[in-house]
Amino acid sequence: MSKRELMDQVVKEILECRKCDLWKSRRNPVPGEGSLDAKIMFIGEAPGYWEDVKGSPFVGAAGKLLDKLLAGIGLSREEVFIGNILKCRPPGNRDPQPEEIYACTPYLDRQIRIIKPKIIVTLGRHASAYIFSKAGVPFSGISKVHGKVYRAEVLDLDVTLIPMYHPAVALYNAKLKSALEEDFRILAVQLEE
Ligand code: URA
Ligand code: SF4
Repeated sequence: MSKRELMDQVVKEILECRKCDLWKSRRNPVPGEGSLDAKIMFIGEAPGYWEDVKGSPFVGAAGKLLDKLLAGIGLSREEVFIGNILKCRPPGNRDPQPEEIYACTPYLDRQIRIIKPKIIVTLGRHASAYIFSKAGVPFSGISKVHGKVYRAEVLDLDVTLIPMYHPAVALYNAKLKSALEEDFRILAVQLEE
């Protein structure tokens, strides 16, 4: 099967999914979007209000910042892939629960295997903790590891892993915003390699 056919199958399953209780309150699942040949995958936490309304990832305020950060290093949304560890919105944007992460992440794992990115950027502590556990790297907290470059094996793929702060927290904190901008410059350097 082609990458497109494999991804279409994953998306179809997500659109019908009832593997955790979040299906009851979601308006639209958000499977993720972008190029199936992307060199970089960005992995966020879960859909928020606008993502749930539109069915697309990072289309609210955090998404606008992400677009700016991408443009700042010469990238467009179309050439990367943007996804989340949870495909349905937690009510009130509460934290993902362990059982929801357990139920939902097999979809993300399949997406990673289909796309085979060279670089994985995790946005925020939940996505970072999940991918670090896949890589067998101890996770000591996002403020300690953000902007560090790890060579890791994730799902049998050799990847460069760069954890970053979540754009949503950078919206209201100038220091974290500068840190995120700096981390994007580190990403830009990795892209050159
Ligand atoms: N925050 C996320 O983690 N993901 C989205 O898609 C939107 C906001
Ligand atoms: Fe299924 Fe994931 Fe949505 Fe839960 S969050 S219903 S596991 S797609």
